[in-house]
Amino acid sequence: MNTNAVPYHNYSQNLSKLFGFRIQKLSIDAGFTCPNRDGTVGTGGCTFCNNDAFNPSYCLPQKTITQQIQEGKQFHQFRYKRAPKYLAYFQAYSNTYAPIETLKALYEEALRDDDVVGLVIGTRCDCLDDEKLEYLSELSKQYYIVLEIGVESCYDETLKLINRGHTFEDAEFWIKKAAGRGLKVGVHLIFGLPDDTPRKMLEQVYKINSLPIHSIKFHQLQIIKGTKMEQQFLEKDSNFNPLFFELDEYLDFVVDFVEQLRPDIIIERIAGEVPPRFQVGPVWGGIRNDRIMVKFEKRLIERKTFQGRLFLK
Ligand code: SF4
Repeated sequence: MNTNAVPYHNYSQNLSKLFGFRIQKLSIDAGFTCPNRDGTVGTGGCTFCNNDAFNPSYCLPQKTITQQIQEGKQFHQFRYKRAPKYLAYFQAYSNTYAPIETLKALYEEALRDDDVVGLVIGTRCDCLDDEKLEYLSELSKQYYIVLEIGVESCYDETLKLINRGHTFEDAEFWIKKAAGRGLKVGVHLIFGLPDDTPRKMLEQVYKINSLPIHSIKFHQLQIIKGTKMEQQFLEKDSNFNPLFFELDEYLDFVVDFVEQLRPDIIIERIAGEVPPRFQVGPVWGGIRNDRIMVKFEKRLIERKTFQGRLFLK
């Protein structure tokens, strides 16, 4: 059984244990774009994507990295009183989508802040190459570095429906390459995408377990304003068949998934949290993510189960 105080491998606990104090992530918008938007891979982007919906107000690409870190620290110190150290979270768009020299300048500016102990870099698998992985691998000898790669679905037909612009195999290839360089790799998965069924979603666990990943984030499908999905949803497009859950149903589904999940994978979150003003469709009453995590933990305990209980090697 999982030896943590909670019945799953908990992200914040893992960081606190590693560093000996609380670690907070600070979001940064470094002004990147994305090859699935600028025409390199596609245009229009993934059909669910509107980066404005999750960018905190202090994150503006017009500000320097240093400025965003300073304002982010003030924001979090006000909210949480004390978060002694930080991870700079390069979050908006594809944060490895630039020449290596540009990336070095941006990442190293963040790491010059004495309170920043590492980086979390969100990206797409097609924005990586050997040179970037080599550099990040060197950086990870000194700092806590996580490369967060969007997988979203393990099914290519679903990835096509959401205009993802790459296959699961592409993601798998770069996840393995990055992990092979000793990098910590985190992934995202969205539950409820068009044509998803509970069974199909659950069966993804075998593919996820086979990946050399360090951490995972699950998101329920949310329909965000200003996206292609909003259009499909409002127009009742017959090719758009998402799966919406009630919160309790969703928690049970995630428990089913997590009890088959490899026990060493750190679970960072089980649900997305987009402000209700950005959403159309089901919103679960605006419940905050920390409350959802508490309910999830309670559900695991009620069902007398834990992460990896049904994991098959
Ligand atoms: S979700 Fe990521 S990969 Fe997709 S369009 Fe948005 S920024 Fe690009």
